[in-house]
Parts: sequence; structure tokens; C-alpha cells
Amino acid sequence: MKISIVVPSYNEENNVIILGKRLKEVLVALGDFEVIFVDDGSSDGTLSQLINLHQEDKRFRYYSFSRNFGHQQALRCGMEYATGDCVISMDADLQHPPELIPELVSKWKEGYDIVFTQRTEEDNLSFFKKFTSGIFYRLMNRLSDVDLEEGTADFRLVDKKAVDVIRNASESNLFMRGFISWIGFKQYKITYKAALRHSGTTKYSIRKMMGFALNGITSFSIKPLRFSIFAGLLISALAFFYAIYAIILYLFFPEKAVAGWASVLVSVLFMGGIQLLFLGVIGEYLGKLFMQSKNRPHYIIQASSADE
Ligand code: UDP
Ligand code: MG
Repeated sequence: MKISIVVPSYNEENNVIILGKRLKEVLVALGDFEVIFVDDGSSDGTLSQLINLHQEDKRFRYYSFSRNFGHQQALRCGMEYATGDCVISMDADLQHPPELIPELVSKWKEGYDIVFTQRTEEDNLSFFKKFTSGIFYRLMNRLSDVDLEEGTADFRLVDKKAVDVIRNASESNLFMRGFISWIGFKQYKITYKAALRHSGTTKYSIRKMMGFALNGITSFSIKPLRFSIFAGLLISALAFFYAIYAIILYLFFPEKAVAGWASVLVSVLFMGGIQLLFLGVIGEYLGKLFMQSKNRPHYIIQASSADE
């Protein structure tokens, strides 16, 4: 029985060594293990730290991307190369405590295929993070058919058979959290307290976070497309009533019916806005189809511990 740990790392030079050390302390007690770091095109010294780790202990392996492909692709790469009977994914910044791993593993041994975690106390998270993640989970649950609980990050154990499903998924923009919830299997939840980021700043810029949220929602739902139908109906209904009102005004109170500028302008602008919004929504899905149809590799590896 072998445990694989997968750690996406993007500019985490001050974190990977410490994480490696803490992981090792926990993992040696559990038996056979491997730790796969995926360097997501870091521009700092992350890769050389990973090489050091590998040279000291061959159970620490690494794959290095040719550029930044994003957290989700790094996760996917790690899962694809993992050889363990289960795979545990976690962040490199020590926000996910390695000390929780024995608990994850013991639940897995009890027979659960997926053991996911949920952060409870949020003192260690910024107001901004809490706020944006609150909106994201609410939207995601409203708009899509998968149920995601707030604070369930990419810190989880996945059994080999579920990892195989991920390996075979051809989706080009795989949204891991939603996908794992969607595939089913026996799942179990553990709560934990998120720690502060050990070093460096968050690698999720606002832009990346918005992209992540948009991808998550449009990967699992076509409801936003349907909204346009309802919005269109609603607006036509409003316009219809407004027309009746205008006719009545014209027939019975002609002296009041002259000043029409404001209403014309408002309705034109409103319709224009709604149309642009839904063109954007359609564009988002069309773009997804386009990316998928090109069938490009999900990530490109430029160096790995397997080369040595
Ligand atoms: N990460 C990555 N590629 C990216 C952005 C982030 O591999 O483009 C990694 C990062 O190194 C970390 C994990 O994803 O291990 C989570 O990122 P971060 O801690 O910055 O996000 P936050 O905890 O602020 O949501
Ligand atoms: Mg973090």
C-alpha cells in the first residue's frame, strides 16, 4: 500500500523544503510513500529546491512545466503520474496541515474512496478571501448540478479508482473540485483549521480567481444560457406593459405624453446591456468548445525527476 502526495507549486521557493520536511515526518510512519511536486512554471528558485529534495530522497519527485499552466492542470499532472494506491493533493504554502494526513488515510482504510476536507475556523483567511469564496460557492451551488460546500479546497485524498477516472477525463479545462464531487463514490468529509500561508503571497490573483470561478460554473452548468430566455421573456413582458401604459397615456392624457426621451433611452440602454451580457455568456461556452476542439495537451513538462 503506497500513498502519493501531489503538491502544485508556483513560486513557492520558501515553502517547499519545509513542507517536504513536515511531510516526511508524517509519512514515514504510514509506510510506503511518494511526494510529487509539480512546478507550475515558477520563476523563482522553486525548481532548484525541488531538485535538491529529490537528490536527498528519491521518494520526492518533481515535474516541471514549461510555463504557468495553472493550479488545476498541475493537480491533474500530479494525479496522472502518481503511482500510489491513493493520492492526496495539497497546497505548497502549508495552509493544509500535513499532520491531518494520517486521519485522511485512516478514513480511506475504513473504505471511503474520497476523503475531502473543509476548513472551519476562518480567522486565518483575509476578509477578501472569505467574501469572494462565499460568493463563489453560493453561485456555484445555485447554478450547477454539483453540490460544493464552502471551504472545500483541493486538499483531499482520492482512491486509485477515482484517480483513474480523472486520468481518463479528456476535458481540457478540468475543474477538479466540481469533477470530484460529480464522479460520486463513497465520500467522507473531515474539517480542519486552515493555517496562515507560510511564506510569500497568494498565487491566485483576482484575475486568476475570476477565471477559476467562471470556469467552475460554466464547466458544470448550462443554466446561465437558460437565463437569457427568462431575462428576454421578462423584459418583453415589461416592454409590453409599458406599451399599454403609453397608449393609455396617449389616448386619455395627451398633454402628458410628450416627454418620451428618458424612457426610450433607458429601455435602449437596458436592452443593449442585457444583449451584451448574454452574448458574453454564449461566448464563454463557445470558447470552451473551441479550446476543447483543438485537443491540445493539458500541460507541457520541460523537466522532471524521471530524467535524472
Ligand atoms: N498554484 C499553482 N499555479 C498557479 C497558482 C497557484 O500551482 O497558477 C498553487 C500554489 O503554489 C499553491 C496552490 O496552488 O500551492 C494554492 O495557491 P494559493 O495558496 O496561492 O491560493 P490561496 O490559498 O490563496 O487560495
Ligand atoms: Mg494558499
